[in-house]
Amino acid sequence: MVVLPKIRNNICLTAHPLGCALQVQHQINFVKHRDPLDGLKRVLVIGSSNGYGLASRIVAAFGCGADSVGISYERPGSVTRPATAGWYNETALVERAAEAGLKAFSVNGDAFSDEMKQEVCGLIEDHLQAVDLVVYSIASPRRIDPKSGDIYASVIKPIGKSYSAKTLDFQSGVVSTITAEPATEDEIEHTIKVMGGEDWLLWIEALLERGILADGVKTIAYSYLGPDLTYPIYREGTIGRAKLHLEGTVDTINTRLTNLNGMAVVSVNKALVTRASAVIPAVPLYISLLYRVMKSKGIHEGCIQQMYRLFHDYLCMPGPRPLDESGRIRLDDLEMREDVQREVRLLWERVETKNLASISDIRGFSDEFLMHHGFGVPGVDYDADVTLV
Ligand code: NAD
Repeated sequence: MVVLPKIRNNICLTAHPLGCALQVQHQINFVKHRDPLDGLKRVLVIGSSNGYGLASRIVAAFGCGADSVGISYERPGSVTRPATAGWYNETALVERAAEAGLKAFSVNGDAFSDEMKQEVCGLIEDHLQAVDLVVYSIASPRRIDPKSGDIYASVIKPIGKSYSAKTLDFQSGVVSTITAEPATEDEIEHTIKVMGGEDWLLWIEALLERGILADGVKTIAYSYLGPDLTYPIYREGTIGRAKLHLEGTVDTINTRLTNLNGMAVVSVNKALVTRASAVIPAVPLYISLLYRVMKSKGIHEGCIQQMYRLFHDYLCMPGPRPLDESGRIRLDDLEMREDVQREVRLLWERVETKNLASISDIRGFSDEFLMHHGFGVPGVDYDADVTLV
């Protein structure tokens, strides 16, 4: 079947198997052309099929030579319907790792469930014995509480008052104004349940209980701060509350890991095009302007560049590393540079539909979004039939 991109409301409903495999290969190639890394040999990535989790696993496997277990929640394909991009990414990653002589296991299912935790612990016990690093990189719209069975849905809303801002439909290139109404107390609580630190802690407890965390184990989760432009919808909104909870979970996990000389940390990463960020109001427009400014200054990074820097400068470096006043790694340092933010703000004030193409990197945003779904990858014949399963 010939597969073309089908995009609705900034969500891509199709994915190209060969394009996904090739963009995984490109990320592997990037890592292979950098200095090899040392110190991490067995890695668990929770949320490994896309974006930051996928890039983390690629750096662990092809930079450090680590065996890995990856968990994701993706839909397989059928004869007539493509799988989700993450499904094809996982398949490609496992194949490339096997060719490189590395063990790589991918488990597809709900990481929030107790069953998944037990299955993955068993897999680690049988094949890796223990892990040196646990990466927590889930972005999910819902979570079923494993104890109560209650279903929680996360929302992206401001808190306290409504938020009106420019936003972008990146497919049509139309810049319009969006108003988001404030979240209810229930919605805030639900979002914290889904995207806060509770499940990260449950994972660490499950792994500890089975005795499969190595001495000196590290665990990391990803957060975002962003500029004051997006503060009302992001950092001061429901998702920001969840991220605060996630960051607050570090101390609890560190206490649990004391006997193992382990360490938990949060990394504040750069805003990047991923499936998750494309659906946050105002964020695609902000990213399009940010890319324009950062590319013009020669300081732009994608997921794989960010994650290589994380492993190279922090996770694989012995001894204490520089953290911010709240104990976080700041990979968003270049994004938040004063000159970068000043220029983005000036562009933000001017941007409208008719000047979007000339003052933003909408092209770069769209190309990267498509590439995350295996489209627009050089070397792929998009007119040819492909097998979807
Ligand atoms: P993504 O959508 O690209 O990937 C999310 C991953 O989570 C996928 O592998 C998906 O399969 C997995 N997942 C979702 N629900 C699951 C479930 N129930 N069980 C198992 N796996 C599940 O997301 P991303 O943008 O890479 O975000 C990853 C983390 O990085 C998030 O915590 C996000 O807030 C953070 N972050 C993202 C950005 C950004 O701009 N994209 C910036 C800073 C921090």
